[in-house]
Order: sequence, then structure tokens, then C-alpha cells
Amino acid sequence: MALPTTLLSKRLPLAEKLQIAMQHCRAKGLRRTHSLSTILEVMLKGERPIGWADLAENPRLRAACNPSSVFRILIRLEELGVVHRLAAARRSYYFALNVEGRTYDQIVCTSCVHVEILPRDHPLEDFAREVRARTQYRGVYHQLTFYGVCPQCQEKQNCPRIKMRADSQ
Ligand SMILES: [Zn+2]
Repeated sequence: MALPTTLLSKRLPLAEKLQIAMQHCRAKGLRRTHSLSTILEVMLKGERPIGWADLAENPRLRAACNPSSVFRILIRLEELGVVHRLAAARRSYYFALNVEGRTYDQIVCTSCVHVEILPRDHPLEDFAREVRARTQYRGVYHQLTFYGVCPQCQEKQNCPRIKMRADSQ
């Protein structure tokens, strides 16, 4: 089951959101660990999907666990329906919290693998609402991914994001 829609509230403090998310995970049988709590906190703070490598490189997480543990936790969260794994270019994996009522329509740069979230006011949102109403399904979500080359990568051969990635390796 998805995380409750209250997590989308702008007014709810992060600490409370984290508590709700942790309770949700514990109800699904996950142990309350520092790594899990840190992953959830970082994901709650950021409003967009995060690449697992970026997540693993978060200074707070680096102190808590190694990248493969981060990946294992994310896969477990995916199995439990707490996060979605989003399609991304190449072999990078992006994860987003599965919050009831939130969908991610995205565009991915095939060159620098940058992910941008598209505004939600496009015609597909009407279609999504219609699908929900017609099928009476619960927990309906969709993923729409466009691929292309971002303006920075078009302009310069060396997009700053590619350079950043290379520098960090
Ligand atoms: Zn790019």
C-alpha cells in the first residue's frame, strides 16, 4: 500500500513526515534502523525522484552504510510498495516514494541522465483520473517517461552534469 497522502502536505514538519513513513515501514515488518530512517528522510526532503548513486553519496548516508546496503534497502522498499523504481536512461536507477495521489511524469536526458519532473497539468492527468474512475482500482499510479537530450547537453559537448559525474568517480 502507498504511503498516506498527508506526506504531500507542505505544512507538515519533516520530523512528523518521517515518523509517519517509519510507522508505515514498521507495519510492513521492516526494522527501525538508522539507514532506513536516513533514506526515508533524504527522500522526504527532496521532492523529486533520486538516483540510488546520488542517495548513496549523501553525506549522512555515507556515514551510515555502504552503497550496496542502500540499494538493498531500496529494493526491499520497492517490494513492499513504499517506493517506486522509475525508468531512467542507461543503467541508473531512480527511486521515488510511493505516496498516494502522486505520480511522476518525467523527462530523462539520455546524455547526462538528468531527470526532470513534468508539470502535472497535461491532458494525461485527465486520462489518469478517468482510468481511476472507470476501473475503480485503488492505488492507481502511472509512470510516463520521455527521453531526449537536455539543452545543456545540446549546447556544449561537456554538460556540467556529466563533468560532475566524471569528477565524482
Ligand atoms: Zn543532459
